Amino acid sequence: MKIFKKVAEMQAWSESIKKSGKKICLVPTMGYFHKGHLSLMEKGRELCSVLVVSLFVNPAQFGENEDLDAYPSDIEKDITLARDLGVSAIFLPDGNEIYPNGYQTYVELSNLPHHMCGLSRPVHFRGVATVVTKLFNIVKPDVAVFGLKDFQQFQVIRRMTADLHYNIEIIGGPIVREDDGLAMSSRNAYLLPEHRDAALTLSNSLKMAKEMIAKGSSADAVRKKIKEYIESFPYTSIDYISLCDPETLEDVTSLKGDLLVALAVKVGKTRLIDNMIIDPAE
Ligand code: AMP
Repeated sequence: MKIFKKVAEMQAWSESIKKSGKKICLVPTMGYFHKGHLSLMEKGRELCSVLVVSLFVNPAQFGENEDLDAYPSDIEKDITLARDLGVSAIFLPDGNEIYPNGYQTYVELSNLPHHMCGLSRPVHFRGVATVVTKLFNIVKPDVAVFGLKDFQQFQVIRRMTADLHYNIEIIGGPIVREDDGLAMSSRNAYLLPEHRDAALTLSNSLKMAKEMIAKGSSADAVRKKIKEYIESFPYTSIDYISLCDPETLEDVTSLKGDLLVALAVKVGKTRLIDNMIIDPAE
């Protein structure tokens, strides 16, 4: 497995791979791998003969009071896991390599970031869109795989890829969960044992929403019920409960067609997200 720390080296290698006629799949990550990350890599390995994983904790997607400095990291373990999985190359740049002195160019979307996570994390999707644009230009993938756990991010990347005419296929990987239903996340490492029940309110709320919708409840009734349920647990603080159109992320009132139910809840100091696509006709 190759490890590249410099943009120019990564670019040159990717160009040589493409000249040889092979296809490259990119899986962007911030590291501290769990089974969710590994599932995306497995998918990538099936789709293309060359699999590149980027590992970069992107400062541009963290707000001032967020957890950039505390973000969990174990690069040696990540390298071993990636090697064992058959990753062809890891791109592991440092901050100055990506944002050198004098840096001033960002990629921003007009609408998708003004919903859900974007409301409490105003610079987040600008940072995500910018770093993914850079990774596309550096790694030059034919396919890129993103987790549906970060559903809004997935839609931002899909939109940006189409809008900027990248000839890259964007694939979504299903949410990988712990046995008790908690969506896997590098940030779960911050949770204390006493937070577990509160953390499980997210996946439990999604199940509850699915049942209520199947029985014909209104969007408002679902939001109210989930809010009451989550607030009945200590350590929780709700950021948002969204029942929205999965493409535009606009709130819905009537439940017709595919629907995204998405949540962000702080449990202690840890911000957790989860979501589910529901077809009310099912
Ligand atoms: P991160 O390292 O948190 O930026 O995540 C890297 C990629 O893994 C993103 O595309 C995430 O959406 C995806 N991911 C994170 N957690 C999960 C999960 N539990 N299941 C599936 N994909 C995930």
